[in-house]
Amino acid sequence: MPSTASTAAQAAVLVLDEVGDAEGVNIRDARLKGALEPLAGTPALEVCCGRCRGRVAWWAPETVGAFIAATQGRAKPRRRHGGISDLAEPAPRTSIGLAPWIELASSGKTSVTIEDWKNPSGWPLRLRFTCRCGAQYTRTNTTRMREYLTAIGSENSMIFLHS
Ligand SMILES: [Zn+2]
Repeated sequence: MPSTASTAAQAAVLVLDEVGDAEGVNIRDARLKGALEPLAGTPALEVCCGRCRGRVAWWAPETVGAFIAATQGRAKPRRRHGGISDLAEPAPRTSIGLAPWIELASSGKTSVTIEDWKNPSGWPLRLRFTCRCGAQYTRTNTTRMREYLTAIGSENSMIFLHS
């Protein structure tokens, strides 16, 4: 029996195909947000380097918009309740206006950095992942979403990035 999460992820891939992409204004698309909603409590997905197989990040779907958030580390175990709550938070917080994962990515001090803010959504959709081995991977929100949904849809607990 496939899990509820995998069924929801498989359905969400079809919605992503239908919407076309998860860039710009599409991150507010009600169908796309609705499709990600059932995955909001799914444990964050471990994302590894395709070259050295080391861990690069953790990914989870955001719930305020249709995008896949990412941080280098995870929250403390007692704070993890699946989804975005599994992702690390900066301590102390310095930019309360920003989502915690965006504040971390903006710091430039983690494996996850923001590639550009220049898109109509106002959110940093394109992210760069830098592994300790030096490998770098740039991912649009659409590509992250497809990779995330494909992994959850096939009940994979981790994914490997390839350039
Ligand atoms: Zn690596």
